[in-house]
Amino acid sequence: MIGAPERRRQLRHCVRCGGDRVVLRRVSVRLTNGRLVNGVEAEVCLDCGERYYDLPAMNKLQPT
Ligand SMILES: [Zn+2]
Repeated sequence: MIGAPERRRQLRHCVRCGGDRVVLRRVSVRLTNGRLVNGVEAEVCLDCGERYYDLPAMNKLQPT
């Protein structure tokens, strides 16, 4: 999983490809256990498709 805990709210550049077209989107995420989580806020790189989740989103993706 990518993402440093202290990173800024809005990414300026994609860490993976270096592109600067990173936009905030709500996406659906398929978990490893097969569950589908809708409406997860993520920053998505338009160039390579890499997704970055913030902390609330990460928590949503982890079974408690
Ligand atoms: Zn990228």
